[in-house]
This record gives sequence, structure tokens and C-alpha cells, in this order.
Amino acid sequence: MKWHFLGGADTVTGSKHLLEFDDSRILFDCGMFQGRRKESNEINKTLGFDPAAIDAMVLSHAHIDHCGNIPVLVKNGYHKSIHATSATADLLPIMLRDSAHIQEADAAYLNQKTNRRGQPPVVPLYTLADAEASLKLIRPHDYKEPLPLPGGVVVTHVDAGHILGAALALVEIPCNGGDFLRIALVFDLGRRNLPLLHDPFQLQDIDILIAESTYGDRLHDNALNAREELREAIIRALGRGGKVLIPTFALGRAQEIVYHLVHLRDRGEIPSVPVYVDSPMAHAIAGVFEKNADYLDEESHALRSSAGSVVKPDWLTFTESVEESKSITSSKTPSIVIAASGMCEHGRILHHLKHGIEDEKNLILLVGYQAMNTLGRRIQNGEKKVRIFGDEFALKAEVQTLHSFSAHADRLELFRYVRDAKPKKVFLVHGEQDQRASFAQLLRDQLHLDVELPANGDKVDLSAFLPPPPAPSPSPPSSQS
Ligand SMILES: [Zn+2]
Repeated sequence: MKWHFLGGADTVTGSKHLLEFDDSRILFDCGMFQGRRKESNEINKTLGFDPAAIDAMVLSHAHIDHCGNIPVLVKNGYHKSIHATSATADLLPIMLRDSAHIQEADAAYLNQKTNRRGQPPVVPLYTLADAEASLKLIRPHDYKEPLPLPGGVVVTHVDAGHILGAALALVEIPCNGGDFLRIALVFDLGRRNLPLLHDPFQLQDIDILIAESTYGDRLHDNALNAREELREAIIRALGRGGKVLIPTFALGRAQEIVYHLVHLRDRGEIPSVPVYVDSPMAHAIAGVFEKNADYLDEESHALRSSAGSVVKPDWLTFTESVEESKSITSSKTPSIVIAASGMCEHGRILHHLKHGIEDEKNLILLVGYQAMNTLGRRIQNGEKKVRIFGDEFALKAEVQTLHSFSAHADRLELFRYVRDAKPKKVFLVHGEQDQRASFAQLLRDQLHLDVELPANGDKVDLSAFLPPPPAPSPSPPSSQS
């Protein structure tokens, strides 16, 4: 009985775990490692096992760092089922096709250069055909529906409260005549009070907890402040005749922002200016939210009944064609524009920034993490001049970062989850080393827990954590006593 930490252990991307039990092998997640192109490509090509020898795969959620390498798995011989919640199953076609498109476009771009140098062509990590083959293997199911898997292992998904359809997993491995070793997989853990989503479901009485620690050393602003911060920012920018430009990821954050806007407009708390979601992908994802409305929380249902839709209200314009997108960039009318990508590295947001960044009436509202060396981070840092499409622009627009937006539990929320799960053993994964080390120390100091920080590639023997066999029943008392 072995647990193999194949990826996303001491990194925050490339989540990949393998359970070996008797003759069965079950893969949990097959995420894409994201980093510098050359290194990422090598890591993503190397799975670390024979895909044909895997008996089943279980997927936590539709973020690319958890599902984005599935086409590599399938391309290399995996043809069994991929188990995911039905909302995740509906998001996967959008996510994997988009990812395949990026891989193909990237290879085509590189090949323009290599052709000129007479070098062998670059092969994409995977193609649209590989993504389509992967989608045929998806088996959707509901939260709390026990999945019987090979080897007698049972996996039950519960709500992670992270993004639509995201699941924490209870993995029960049979042992000691009728008993089970209970492993909880907590990647990724969401937050309480996030818009649209239910709060994370608390798993309890766990033998082994394998948990993410992305923000193990950080506290977020309260999620309940997000709407008010958004309202104040919008009022200020529109009040001076400016536009509000919101760079965001197409999955999750875009729908959260729209949800808050629906709430604010429904109560007349912001002006009725044009609102654009300039992202065909975000449009498609909004459709998945509509289809899976039963995944949404009670507050969303209440707002839905008064406003009609919480992700696709009729006053909102989704732009599909580049021409439509261009007509918004050239317009000076005060408006709210939501566009990908979240860190301003590519996508349509670049056109909006190019036309709007030099106007001091405009507001660039950052609602997500901005990694080092991205345009988003340079804007966040308030650099006086930034480059967009190779040209230099003066950063004159106002820049504001809202820290209340995050889909990941922070240090305190993670601590509470681990405490209430009452595990006997904890492995912290999915975090940079300093985040993991700091959180591990907190768990050791406050909860006296046995905590380990595995590295990618580590293999752990789970037999050491088996619950003790049941004690033999005492002999019945004799009639004389
Ligand atoms: Zn995630």
C-alpha cells in the first residue's frame, strides 16, 4: 500500500498522486506543471509511470494545474475511466480544448523560428485530438456518491468550495477485516462565504490528510468585504467618467465579479453602465454555471430568482468576435470591462490596456494573484512605463488591488480545516517551501500533529498508518462470576 507523490508536492502546479494497493493503481489528478517553457515541457512529458498500468483516475477539479496533463496520459496509453463531478465534467471540454489550442499554437510559433534555422520541428505537448480522446473517458457523478474502484477502494467526493464542481476526496482503502484506512485529499481547499459556491464540506476522523498549503503563511482579507470594495472602486472610476478594466481568469473569478455586479445592480448600488465580458471562454463557462445551478449556494438561488441570472444577466454583453472586442476598446463611454488573462500576459485584456492605460480617468482593478515578471505585476507595482505588444505606454490610469478575492483557503482557514478533520498524520503538498514549512510548524505547535513535507517523486508506505486490527472479543463471563 503505497502513496506516490508524483507532482504538485513541493510545487503549486502539476498536481499528480498515485495510490498503489495490492495489484491496483489509482491516479489522483494529472495536472500541468506551469513554469518556464522548456522545463515545463520536459516535466509534463515525463509522467513517472506507465499510463497503461493505471486502473482508474479520479480528478479533483477543472483547474489546469490539476487536469491539464490528462491528454498526455491518454496519448501515452491510458484508456480507462476518469471520474469527476458532473460540473467538472462540463468544464473539462472548455479547459482541455483551450489548453490543446495553446499547445498547438505555441509549437506552431516556435516552428516558424526552427524552420528558419533548419532545426527539427517542435511537437506540441498534445493536440486537440488528444484532448478529444481524453474527454471520451470522463465519467460524471455527484458529490457524496461513493465510487467503487478497483481493489475495493472507495472514493467519495465532497464540495471543496473552491471553484464550480471542485471536490475534496475521501479515499477509503480496505484493511484489517472490514475496516478502512481513511485518507482525505484536500486539494484545493476553498473558502467560506465565497459567492456562488457552498462552503467547503468538513471531512472528519481521518487517518491521513494530504492537504494543499498554497497560502500556509498568509491571511486574506475577509471574502465578505469583496463586494463593498468592488462597489467603492467602480463608483469612483465611473464618477470621473472613466472605464473600469478588470483582468481576470475566465474560470471562477470572472463569474464571481459578474455575480457581485448583478447583486449591486439589482439593488441600484452602482450605475447602469455597459458591462462587457470580453472572453469567449468565460461566456462558455457561464453556460456551465447555468446548467449546473444545483451546485450553487442558497444566496445565489435567491439572487437568481430576483435578477434572472447570476452569471449571464441580460444587461451584460459577452463579446465573441475580435471586431466586437475592438469596438469596445475604441469607445470612451464609461463602462466595466472584464477580460482575460488574469495576469495580463496574453488575451484580449492587452488591447483594452493598450487603449486605456494612459487615461488617468480609468481604473485597472486587479482581483487576482500577479506573479513575478508578468505585466500584471508591473502594473501592480506602479511602474511608470510598461510595454504592451512591444510598445511603451505610460501608466497613468489608477491601479487598485483587491485582496479579498481568493479561491484558496488562507493560513487560518486551512488550520481550522485540518484541526476539525482530526487526522493522525498530515502530508502538506501544493505549496512553496516557505509556505509549507510555516504551516507545518503551526500544526506541530498548536495541534501536536505528525506533519511531513514530501518532495515530488517521494513514495510513502501507507501500511505504517493502518488502524490496529480489532482486539479479540473477550471470552464471555463464566456463569459462576
Ligand atoms: Zn484549483
